Amino acid sequence: PIRVRIAPSPTGDPHVGTAYIGLINYLYARQRNGKFVLRIEDTDRARFVATSEQEIFNSLRWLGLTWDEGPDLGGPYGPYRQSERTEIYREHVELLLANGTAYRSFETPEELEDLRQRQIASKLPPRYDGAHRELSQAQIDAYLAEGRPYTVRLKVPAGDPAFTEFRDELRGVIRFEHSNVDDQVLMKSDGFPTYHLANVVDDHLMQITDVIRAEEWISSTPKHVLLYKAFGWQIPRFWHMPLLRNLDKSKISKRKNPVSLIYYRQAGFLPEAMINFLGLMGGGMPAPTESTPTQPATKSSETDIFILPDMVARFDVKNIRLGGPVFDLTKLKWLNGEYIRALTPEKFYAALRETILSDAYLQQIAPLVQTRIETLGEFGNLTHFLFADDIMPPAEVFVPKKRTPEETLAFAAEQLTVLEATDWTHEALEPALKKLGEEKQWSVKENFMLLRAILTGSTMSPPLLESMVVFGKSRTLDRVRRFLE
Ligand code: ATP
Ligand code: GLU
Repeated sequence: PIRVRIAPSPTGDPHVGTAYIGLINYLYARQRNGKFVLRIEDTDRARFVATSEQEIFNSLRWLGLTWDEGPDLGGPYGPYRQSERTEIYREHVELLLANGTAYRSFETPEELEDLRQRQIASKLPPRYDGAHRELSQAQIDAYLAEGRPYTVRLKVPAGDPAFTEFRDELRGVIRFEHSNVDDQVLMKSDGFPTYHLANVVDDHLMQITDVIRAEEWISSTPKHVLLYKAFGWQIPRFWHMPLLRNLDKSKISKRKNPVSLIYYRQAGFLPEAMINFLGLMGGGMPAPTESTPTQPATKSSETDIFILPDMVARFDVKNIRLGGPVFDLTKLKWLNGEYIRALTPEKFYAALRETILSDAYLQQIAPLVQTRIETLGEFGNLTHFLFADDIMPPAEVFVPKKRTPEETLAFAAEQLTVLEATDWTHEALEPALKKLGEEKQWSVKENFMLLRAILTGSTMSPPLLESMVVFGKSRTLDRVRRFLE
């Protein structure tokens, strides 16, 4: 039986890449009566974001990408959250140490940094030099008796053959010379596994038959293949999907496009349109049409419209194209418009009430204006920026009195960076923005004024920070980003 998985890491907002790869996995499983597993890869404690896992669940459910086994549903191969499986990884590391395919490396972080610096100075690619590959048992015992911390590394085989090959189902055989494969750390000195170890152990124990993931993981695959061999396990099939691209063909990034699924939901994209759009990425659907950003393929539109059940029926891996699919917002908006027009009036009204006219949203907004209006009719005057899509800051922001337009833009870009890194609460935003203003010697007042103008299109508005909190992180960031374009 076919078993596939997605394995997102809860490190921030749910990424459109996760939904895209999730969709391909979902279609592949549903077509073959297989199982679609959701596993949470939360071993990177430094990047862990507490709310992220729930947001991943919400976003995937919003899109209709339902899974069969996962942290919230359980299943026969659980637990499905890696932080609950550390004992399993420890036991597996012991197996590798015992059979000689992994080894302990006792260098201190300072020693490793020193090595790295020396390599950089000699223009060598920085990598571990394998110094502890062949420590004597006596030396190892002595270090252990001292209580020295250690990591466990994969022992990339020396000698013949000096390469690892694997088959990518979309590309054919791919070969990596061992001289380019590091003795990867499998277990960190705190006893936590790295991505590579946890990923392979879990894919094996969860009986995953097909690993379908983004192209950026190809260079990890030789390490994974070596691990499967070290354990003596059967290697799954690998499918590496082309990455989503900006119009300029660079990998989509939050600098150029919103990448958070929360953004698309809050900005009023319908889940059916979003999933349809993602289904056109990668080209797994029949006869996909080309479009350009300014001219969506309206003429051949019928061939671009697929709801999820159609996609399950018609998706074909043979149609996948490796040229980077362009994540073209103009096309997404066009598709969304098609879906909006196709709604019955009742469904359209319901969609409004679930999103930008939901009780929850209106209840958050009401206190912002109650003390600032004289008739209820003025509600719209003060709040339209919370409902509008495009907001244009007033001209004086572009031609400021005391700053050049370049300085204004540079400062807005710095604000964006600070906002991205700050918790989306009044208590966290206020000091972060104040600090930035002070550091840059822009008055804090001007600093807030600039953001207010970008967010609200006006220099008069309900209180800035409260408005930002209500409008939400992803839409606020998008507004600043658009200002910078
Ligand atoms: P960014 O560089 O924008 O921060 P990232 O790769 O750091 O992106 P992650 O949160 O690590 O973002 O990615 C979440 C998931 O989405 C990962 O599984 C990753 O493989 C996938 N992904 C990221 N970028 C893309 C892309 N351009 N196309 C397809 N999938 C992607
Ligand atoms: N945790 C990885 C991610 O963030 C999983 C990659 C894979 O599918 O192997 O996408």
